[in-house]
Amino acid sequence: MKLPFDLPLNQSFEAGPEGPAVDAGWTEPPSRKGFFTDTSICIGCKACEVACKEWNGVPQDGIYELLGSSYDNTGALGASTWRHVAFIEQRKPLGGEQTRVAEPEAGGPPVDLGMPSFSRPGESGQGERSDFRWLMSSDVCKHCTDAACLDVCPTGSLFRTEFGTVVVQDDICNGCGYCVPACPYGVIERREGEPGVKNVGIAQKCTLCYDRLGAGKTPACAQACPTESIQFGDVDELRERARQRIRKLHDAGVTDARLYGADPDDGVGGAGAFFLLLDEPEVYGLPPDPVVTTRDLPAMWKRAAVAAVGLAATAVAAFVGGRR
Ligand code: SF4
Ligand code: SF4
Ligand code: SF4
Repeated sequence: MKLPFDLPLNQSFEAGPEGPAVDAGWTEPPSRKGFFTDTSICIGCKACEVACKEWNGVPQDGIYELLGSSYDNTGALGASTWRHVAFIEQRKPLGGEQTRVAEPEAGGPPVDLGMPSFSRPGESGQGERSDFRWLMSSDVCKHCTDAACLDVCPTGSLFRTEFGTVVVQDDICNGCGYCVPACPYGVIERREGEPGVKNVGIAQKCTLCYDRLGAGKTPACAQACPTESIQFGDVDELRERARQRIRKLHDAGVTDARLYGADPDDGVGGAGAFFLLLDEPEVYGLPPDPVVTTRDLPAMWKRAAVAAVGLAATAVAAFVGGRR
């Protein structure tokens, strides 16, 4: 059955092969930009969190508090934490990975970061051997290929940039909050706080430093990371770099290493910000199989439209029948 009007399917429900920027109407956009975050070389310094706050003027959120469950002090991504470094304590042996050692870009030997060396508990032969490791991981908005936050925003505050990223404009957001439950990762949030705090009530998240990208600069968090755990660049090139890194770690015996968000065929059409993890996504607080939450909206609208046409036809028939 052909519907009597066009359905509003002009958003990102499913990205085409040209990429999200072209789908959003940009003509001849630059190559898609994003992040590859290699958590195996994160040292948990939180320079990325701080750099994000400084560059973007994001207010304080629990800087002087510990959560009680971890040495982390910010807990999760949110309206005032656009980058979040998770600290996860595990009773698990290091699997042979060279953690805290940066991966050189040109394929040369690993770079010693000058961190103090030590024996792990029990290695000296004195006392009982205990297995323990930290997982540290810097999380951020995924800049999804199929971004549900973007699909549901009624004001155009959320938009797709020419770099293929998703940005929220705080001067256009009306604070309706539709985007908050739409995000399958729990990234975007309305800011809470006392009157006078910047942008209270407004939805906030990482902009992938849109202002810096426009000026040809690297995003602040990647610029500040001392280990190059956060790598910024063209998404296609980063995906290849991530695959090579996974191969190296697997060859070194780190068989738990895996990529998260790099598959363009996943439930959000692939993320613009993807990760190398050393354990299951759930361990890092990430959903194992995220799906764009607006996936079923076109079918639902079609059904609603068919029902509306049926109702209208019934009403007309009843009216005409009543006059005979
Ligand atoms: S992670 Fe959430 S906030 Fe970020 S682009 Fe995807 S749906 Fe939007
Ligand atoms: S890209 Fe910019 S806005 Fe996004 S987390 Fe990094 S510093 Fe913050
Ligand atoms: S700046 Fe780099 S090494 Fe430091 S916490 Fe962030 S991602 Fe990890």
